[in-house]
Amino acid sequence: MDFPATSRQSPLRPCWAEIDTAAFEHNYRLLSSMAGPACASLAIVKANAYGHGLEICAPAAVRGGAQWLGVTSVEEGVAARSLCPSARILVMGGLFPGQAAATLAGQLTPVVWEPYQLGELERAAEDRRATLPVHLEIDTGMSRQGANLADLPAILARLAGASPLRLEAIMTHLYASDDGTGETTAAQLDKLERALGFVAAEPTLRPEFLSVGASAALLGGESDQIAALAKRFRLRPMVRIGIGLYGVAPRFNPPLADPLHAAKLAQAGAQLKPVLTWKTRITSVRSIPAGTQIGYNGTFVATEPMRLALLPIGYADGLDRRLSNRFSLLAGGQRAPLVGRISMDQAVLDITEIPGLAPGEEVVILGSQGAASVTAYDHADASGTVPWDVFTRIAARVARIGRATAG
Ligand SMILES: *Cc1c(COP(=O)(O)O)cnc(C)c1O
Repeated sequence: MDFPATSRQSPLRPCWAEIDTAAFEHNYRLLSSMAGPACASLAIVKANAYGHGLEICAPAAVRGGAQWLGVTSVEEGVAARSLCPSARILVMGGLFPGQAAATLAGQLTPVVWEPYQLGELERAAEDRRATLPVHLEIDTGMSRQGANLADLPAILARLAGASPLRLEAIMTHLYASDDGTGETTAAQLDKLERALGFVAAEPTLRPEFLSVGASAALLGGESDQIAALAKRFRLRPMVRIGIGLYGVAPRFNPPLADPLHAAKLAQAGAQLKPVLTWKTRITSVRSIPAGTQIGYNGTFVATEPMRLALLPIGYADGLDRRLSNRFSLLAGGQRAPLVGRISMDQAVLDITEIPGLAPGEEVVILGSQGAASVTAYDHADASGTVPWDVFTRIAARVARIGRATAG
């Protein structure tokens, strides 16, 4: 079999994701300029940079100008630290028992809200005679993580006391900033304002940042209200940008009510560049007569003669099995339907309508080929999920290859 040069240079199973670092840097610059110079733009690289590869994306974010990176866990933070020695790294998912020493050693900045987290961090900081900045999360309505308003005064009094922890930011997470009416966010910001009143009542606490909002808040215009609230309390806004960096504009449901914001969203959406292209190569091609069954349990039966291409990619690579018989990939610059059940490690494409395809030919699972493209939303809609899930389910065994290709 004569596979083109790229696969001969690196003799791997041909199933890989190309990560366009120039597109990623462009997206960071675009989004941080939308946020404006008064706002700190934290680049979210949690979950292996949304499946795009931390090793590729964290340094690219820093090259794009990011001073802050956001990860989920101390483990991810330690990995990001080794890649980006001078970035600030926010650990957003909480600190687990026994992880305080690693947090300090990695110069990570933890999001905190539980008294046990404060206790562990205080002991570890005292051991090192160090001061540790922390970001305090407030639960303003998501009921996931963050301190309740009722518990807040005690936490603030503790931080205002002899604690080696320094309150650097007040943070909350918006749970429906993709609701174009903005109603849930307004209610969350009201609650946040009450929390900020408690903070202001402890004059020795001087947090610098108000960390609120993800891509949807920035792209949908809620960041204006957040900036106004920050200003009232003399805080600097910080926005935590995830999915937009990876080239996907969130969808709003119901759509944005404000036409000005809708126009801004459309404009930014058109300027974001896709970052990831997931590819494979045809392993073998066969012709089958009418009546032939394809794949496990013969869920597809050919009604006429067909040409089939075998692909070395399956649900173990992250190609959702629910796409069996109901999705198409790109081969020869055209859509080619997946036929039969997607197997663990293989899938079959109908290439009857695409002449000239042979083993070694590139197939695009997600991304563009010529003028055609398959987007993360196409995958998500067909499998009943969201782009975040489509990206993060791309398996570890799929090699990520970084290269700067954006024009
Ligand atoms: C993942 C995450 C974000 C980024 O969300 P996007 O919608 O992908 O921009 C922001 N803040 C927190 C706390 C998160 O966990």
